[in-house]
Amino acid sequence: MEKFTSSDYRSPQNNDWCASCGDFGILKALQQAFVQLQLSPDRIAVFGGIGCSGKTPYYVGTNGIHTLHGRVLPFASGAKLADPDLTVLAVGGDGDGLGIGAGHLVNSARHNLDLTYILFNNGVYGLTKGQPAPTLQRGEQTRSMPHAANSGRLNPLALALAAGYTWIARGYSYAVDELAGLIQQAISHPGLAFIEVLQPCPTYNDLHTREWYEAEDAGDGEPRLYRLAEHNYQSCIQSGATVNDANTVRQNCYAKVLEWGMHIPIGVFLQDLDTPVAAHGGIPAEKGRAEHLQNAIDDARNNSSGHSLTDIESCYGDLKIDACRLATGDENGQ
Ligand code: SF4
Repeated sequence: MEKFTSSDYRSPQNNDWCASCGDFGILKALQQAFVQLQLSPDRIAVFGGIGCSGKTPYYVGTNGIHTLHGRVLPFASGAKLADPDLTVLAVGGDGDGLGIGAGHLVNSARHNLDLTYILFNNGVYGLTKGQPAPTLQRGEQTRSMPHAANSGRLNPLALALAAGYTWIARGYSYAVDELAGLIQQAISHPGLAFIEVLQPCPTYNDLHTREWYEAEDAGDGEPRLYRLAEHNYQSCIQSGATVNDANTVRQNCYAKVLEWGMHIPIGVFLQDLDTPVAAHGGIPAEKGRAEHLQNAIDDARNNSSGHSLTDIESCYGDLKIDACRLATGDENGQ
């Protein structure tokens, strides 16, 4: 019998997303995934960037913060480092993650921390009236734009693959059950998972609409959206895989992430079980960190080469943050 139900992940906050926004499907899928995994709400943290999607933490009944523009991954990473047993998710839009936040999107993959990043892709900056976001194609013009986009499209999945995310998928916001399954898998994956969600913005983007995504006559009578799982696609790099085998999977993945337009694949593109997950046993507590950083700075000042003589890494284990202290705000750790 389930201990937690979807009502345990609801929030009393008033939701101000536009009617029919694809965000609602993602929110529902998120809550469904939590139910499926039976995660205690107080052991989940959802961090949001800036934009319509960035408000998600208000609408789920878990811990969470509406953070800064493009900075959602550093917040999420910090939370995971401080409390490794916490289930951590970062959510944000394509403008947030691929524009100002692109540096964090790329570099976060290098650490392979065990958390999930969900990128809502609607092609526009919805919160600020529909300017073109980085996923809009050059030459496309939505009803919110006075001119066609004059910059090319960033491909979120290709970027995630090149950066080194170890689990990569694409979902669709109106296929809620399927998306919930993807989120469930992403959370269960031991490492950094990335999900791009195709999320129509009915208010500003009249190009990539629900009708467009679900078209059955895109070119040859086949639906535009199709499922990788129905096409014998192999996404998994097994633990201990040879370099050649791993590269074969990544090359096939790259070919798939380039598909767009008439045929758009959804599902799991990559599941890398070979790349090690970051060891995150804790980070230095405030007092200790300040002291050790000051020592490092003093060493550097006294060292004519300019290099620090202090190995900061060596103090990490001694200075692990006490999760209880954080929760109670007790500075003395009592
Ligand atoms: Fe959704 Fe677009 Fe409205 Fe934002 S502006 S809430 S993305 S429909």
